[in-house]
Amino acid sequence: MIYDFTVVGAGIVGLSTAYKLSLSYPDANILVLEKENRVAPHQTGHNSGVIHSGIYYKPGSYKAKNCVDGRHQLVKFCRENDVAHEICGKIIVASDESEIPKLEEIYERGLQNEIEGIKVIDKEEMLEIEPYVNGVQAIHVPCTGIVDFVGMCEVLSEKITESGNQVRLNQQVQSVSQKNGCLTVQTSKETFQTGYLINCAGLHSDRVARSAGVQSPIKIVPFRGEYYELAPSAQHKVKGLIYPLPNPEFPFLGVHFTKMVLGGVECGPNAVFTFKREGYTKGSFDFRDTIEVADFPGFWKLASQHWKMGIDEMYRSYSKRGFLKNLQKLIPSIELQDLTGSPSGVRAMALKPNGDILDDFYFETTDREVHVLNAPSPAAIAGLSIGDEIVKKVEENFSLV
Ligand SMILES: Cc1cc2nc3c(=O)[nH]c(=O)nc-3n(C[C@H](O)[C@H](O)[C@H](O)COP(=O)(O)OP(=O)(O)OC[C@H]3O[C@@H](n4cnc5c(N)ncnc54)[C@H](O)[C@@H]3O)c2cc1C
Repeated sequence: MIYDFTVVGAGIVGLSTAYKLSLSYPDANILVLEKENRVAPHQTGHNSGVIHSGIYYKPGSYKAKNCVDGRHQLVKFCRENDVAHEICGKIIVASDESEIPKLEEIYERGLQNEIEGIKVIDKEEMLEIEPYVNGVQAIHVPCTGIVDFVGMCEVLSEKITESGNQVRLNQQVQSVSQKNGCLTVQTSKETFQTGYLINCAGLHSDRVARSAGVQSPIKIVPFRGEYYELAPSAQHKVKGLIYPLPNPEFPFLGVHFTKMVLGGVECGPNAVFTFKREGYTKGSFDFRDTIEVADFPGFWKLASQHWKMGIDEMYRSYSKRGFLKNLQKLIPSIELQDLTGSPSGVRAMALKPNGDILDDFYFETTDREVHVLNAPSPAAIAGLSIGDEIVKKVEENFSLV
């Protein structure tokens, strides 16, 4: 059998893409190949579960456009398919007067990105929403929420298979070759023939692209995000989502408080380099992953520019007190005993050889392949919209008959 489209990766981007392809091409045979034994096992299943509004992103970027559109699609999808979600709202807090100009910049960006209902609020209004927060001013973002991404992926997977297509687990793609107008995809178990391929392999997307012969200069460098969970006795101190102002040099939002849709409150994540692409614990190490990073000039350039920040993050990773200090900037009454351990996630950070972090979503396209080489946050929220973007690329670049 020759499949029309093969999607590599059953994270939210791969599943959303396969779902959107199945809607646009109802007669096509679509195959999703996932290396693990379940859907959403990596970034999608290890993230904060936040429905981002789109307030932070550069106007006109894929992130800005796909986050807003993806959010609307996601909320509708969750409502229609009983996926747990809640639009609980968020505040972004200026802790002191010096942070107000930065807060105003983010607010202006939010207006440009047409984020509904955002408002700058004073201390009194802020305390009505989040009574335990310390700050002088905040932006209230009422359309931000929380969602069960794994639950959403399970529904997407069901919809893909119900429409006659396949999601095959335990199939690690090892190579892709082209012959006689058709692609051969070799996995750890089987060989598949396909007309076209979409690479949504997240932390391994650069490797899958290389295994298909794409000479991209981009390298994925893994950064672990570690969390604590608030003990039940302190959970009443967080009503929704509480964020600090982000450091503009990094694509991370700073450690924050997140009410979780399936219960509990998470604090984090930080961002520490990890020696393994799927390294969820502090001791994680993989020889190949480490050598590849050590051999990549972009990593050393990034490290030389931001070594101080790297050391700070590492300190907070090993020192619970250091982590707590950051959290106390937002809620001073949180104490050491309020924090209990919680699972981590690993982000795929795409770097250029000159050390620049690729900020926006990034795709490379050939006549038979689309490679999604950068899909960081808010790609989980934007998933359905990224799926539309990929369908557009398929229409524009592939000679479909
Ligand atoms: C700590 C953390 C917090 C985050 N918080 C948020 C948030 O609150 N909101 C938000 O929108 N985003 C958030 N993100 C980002 C978001 O999780 C990612 O942008 C999104 O999940 C990317 O989805 P994906 O499908 O591209 O990647 P993944 O979910 O990683 O999926 C890629 C899949 O490809 C599979 N795969 C890899 N190689 C192969 C191969 N060779 N063969 C077959 N299969 C393969 C993997 O097993 C995996 O299942 C966060 C990320 C992290 C790590």
